[in-house]
Amino acid sequence: MLIVQKFGGTSLAGEERIRQAAQWVTQVAKRGSRVVAVVSAQGTTTDDLIKQAISLNPRVSAREMDAYLATGEQISAGLLSMAIQAMGYPVISLTGWQAGIFTDHTHGNAVILGLDNNRVVTELDQGKIVVVTGFQGINAAGDITTLGRGGSDTTAVALAGCLGADLCQIYTDVAGVYDKDPHLYPDAVKFDWVSYEKMRRLIAGGAQVLHDRSVELAQKFGLSLEVLSSFTGQPGTIVCGET
Ligand code: ADP
Ligand code: ASP
Ligand code: MG
Repeated sequence: MLIVQKFGGTSLAGEERIRQAAQWVTQVAKRGSRVVAVVSAQGTTTDDLIKQAISLNPRVSAREMDAYLATGEQISAGLLSMAIQAMGYPVISLTGWQAGIFTDHTHGNAVILGLDNNRVVTELDQGKIVVVTGFQGINAAGDITTLGRGGSDTTAVALAGCLGADLCQIYTDVAGVYDKDPHLYPDAVKFDWVSYEKMRRLIAGGAQVLHDRSVELAQKFGLSLEVLSSFTGQPGTIVCGET
């Protein structure tokens, strides 16, 4: 059994939340399953980094912006790995390029072209938990690219698909996918499951709970996603095919 778990920015904001994420990860390992964790930058880190870059240079090149923005996810990967290590589990953190994520040249909105999963598989075979930075890859020129805002979801799905994972869990700050944004509408209704098509319609209507490309990719792989709360770990919403 292999599970990929992705943790969003709010789910990693602060020591307590990092420890909670580490709990969800190690729970899987404790059951004897393999686990890959994909992380976003903590809290508002990416927004803060963008503001600082633009303040220094409003015409910052896309290449430099990507190399710089990728550091937010590296901090998260380091911290989550340390928390997992502190719980006594073997773990290794990998950046996007170390995890073999190859993209096109579109800095700021790169598309994943391929994934060489050799390194991740080797580490899993050695019994390690693997923590991968979301949102980033490397292009044919050897430069770091980023996948667009919210792109860590797509990193998680790409890894889950290429590794043949049994499940890809997207841990976030709401209990699942709702008919409308639960932070804006208290009467929003949570779905137990939604089809890929319905999820894509919700995203087109503004539901940023999942990165659009992550759902396209999940559909291509026939991979089920679970969107759930990192605060409670209660069953969330399954995104899957109609049947
Ligand atoms: P993460 O940092 O975990 O990736 P995001 O901010 O990208 O989290 O996505 C989660 C947010 O999506 C929620 O906090 C919620 O406000 C918002 N959201 C918008 N529409 C929906 C919806 N239909 N269902 C669930 N969440 C939604
Ligand atoms: N940190 C990136 C962002 O804020 C990627 C992500 O959160 O998925 O958009
Ligand atoms: Mg997101």
